[in-house]
Amino acid sequence: MIVQKTHFQIEQMAAAGRILARCLQLVRAKARPGVTTRELDKVAERCIRAQGGEPAFKGYRGFPGSICASPNSMIVHGIPDGYRLERGDILAIDVGVELDGWVADAAVTVAVGQVSPVARRLLDTTSAALFDAVEQCRLGNRLGDVSRAVQRRVEDDGMAVVRSLVGHGIGRSMHEDPQVPNFGAPGTGLELTEGTVLAVEPMVTAGGPAIRMGSDGWSVYSQDGSLAAHFEHTIAVTADGPRILTPWHLDEESWARPERRAETA
Ligand code: MG
Repeated sequence: MIVQKTHFQIEQMAAAGRILARCLQLVRAKARPGVTTRELDKVAERCIRAQGGEPAFKGYRGFPGSICASPNSMIVHGIPDGYRLERGDILAIDVGVELDGWVADAAVTVAVGQVSPVARRLLDTTSAALFDAVEQCRLGNRLGDVSRAVQRRVEDDGMAVVRSLVGHGIGRSMHEDPQVPNFGAPGTGLELTEGTVLAVEPMVTAGGPAIRMGSDGWSVYSQDGSLAAHFEHTIAVTADGPRILTPWHLDEESWARPERRAETA
């Protein structure tokens, strides 16, 4: 069942999303050579709690971290640990924030120092695929339009979408209906109506689409060992168009003040 959100509820999710965006911008800036993913996790947790939020991932089905930190061929769900970032790594950072019973979810993949041309292209493509999908989060479009936008960008650039992991509806719970695959046919699936809120999250590899599970039961890797990237936004479908609730891609100047909240990408 899809739960539409009211204007007021979307504002509450946007408040969680602003906390999240600040956290992701801070962690992204700290993701430098020599830093461990556990240190990044502590930075994130402090940042979220200092703003009055709760790290939504912490304790979720027993997950120990406030962020998922997934380097290189790890696609998602990495447990923060003693892994020390090296120049040339890419690191996917996924964060969830709960505020007053509402959840926001977003992710970025960062380059640690200078990265290979393949890694650079993977980041650019995956990020572009996310923003292509955001553009499709409009009244009257269908879920397949969103999914197809990701798939088209990724495959046109010669990379692969991971099919066994999907985005999701989000609201009072981190994972609500519907599932949001990163592949699909335009004009098919659920019609997007006002107040639908989706976490859209392209997961892309520079090689093949197959995955394997890590031995910790959480981490997910590309099966062929190819580099993987993950970008995510929480997006509300509104009468004014898509509204990104987790504006990690913008300068804080443009979204921090409540009176200027109504902006979209
Ligand atoms: Mg998500």
